[in-house]
Amino acid sequence: MRRLRIVGLAFCLIALTGCIAHVEIAGEVMGTTMKIEAVSRSLSKDELNRAVLDAIEAAKKVDGLMSTWRDDSEISKLNRAGPGEWVALSPETYEVLVKAVNVSKKTGGAFDVTVGPLVDLWGFGAKSPAVVTKAPTDEQVEAAKAAVGYEHILVDANNRRAARDAAGVEVDLGGIAKGYAVDLAIAVLKDRGVKDALVEIGGETAAIGLTEKGEPWLIGIRHPNRPPPRFLTTVGLENGVIATSGDYFNVYELKGRLYSHIIDPTTGKPITNNVCSVTVLAKECALADALATGLMVMGPEEGMKLVESMPGVEAIIAWRTGKDTIEAKASRGARRYRLSP
Ligand code: AMP
Ligand code: MG
Repeated sequence: MRRLRIVGLAFCLIALTGCIAHVEIAGEVMGTTMKIEAVSRSLSKDELNRAVLDAIEAAKKVDGLMSTWRDDSEISKLNRAGPGEWVALSPETYEVLVKAVNVSKKTGGAFDVTVGPLVDLWGFGAKSPAVVTKAPTDEQVEAAKAAVGYEHILVDANNRRAARDAAGVEVDLGGIAKGYAVDLAIAVLKDRGVKDALVEIGGETAAIGLTEKGEPWLIGIRHPNRPPPRFLTTVGLENGVIATSGDYFNVYELKGRLYSHIIDPTTGKPITNNVCSVTVLAKECALADALATGLMVMGPEEGMKLVESMPGVEAIIAWRTGKDTIEAKASRGARRYRLSP
């Protein structure tokens, strides 16, 4: 009798685990890495695979519509249009542009959707030379800065179109589009009946449901000075998003000085506030992505004030205190994560 029960239990376990489909696909999109992991108890392996491939297609579509590295993207067309000339946009591009303008306002211009000319000038844009050999002059910085200001972007919801009201103004969605692509990929997965998945594009991550083991998805936040398996902290995500910006990638050195790809629109120069990593937790990855970029500019004091004023948003901000040392602090709702700076 006892033996029968054990056999029965083993059979149940096989039956249970046998019907879990698990798909994991990694690749490249938007000039960075993308990974989707999904599990399902109701979809077949083929159905789950199809859903994941469609989610990847959705992320590629975002790149096609919004990248300034593609001449045929809607944003490149907008940037080529004459001052005051309206350009019709897809629902996706319009949505991201409006979100980007809203975060620009919310951060007082620390995140600025028109930072493009400065990004190009400092060597991080589509129009930049492959290698930067000297820093731009103050005159060049001032000239590029003159074209920066999110208030130059005009949007028309009724006709779903946008315009720039002055020559030289350029839209750059580099600080928000990856997060939006993550949101879109999650929406595709949900639409296909996927309930448990993790989507990650270049450090911007969203999770729904749980892992195959029934646990929250574990996300390690990279330590600015140490390689994995050391992390600044580890976050368990169930239904939520996490976006991280850091000074440790997309950076170059000139005459012993490091130049970050995050530009302070006020000075017109790469940030010099020693902030090295910002992680934002929220419900929407586009918002988290843009805020992470903006908080890199705002710094711990001003940045945390903004975060604490935004319901559903938490952050971890780290800054360099010496050549090999950092400090970090978390917003109230993120203090349960143990930081190891
Ligand atoms: P992320 O990696 O999400 O922090 O985004 C960095 C990208 O956002 C850069 O490569 C630029 O294209 C763009 N960017 C840099 N500085 C800013 C800024 N202050 N506001 C908005 N976008 C920015
Ligand atoms: Mg960002």
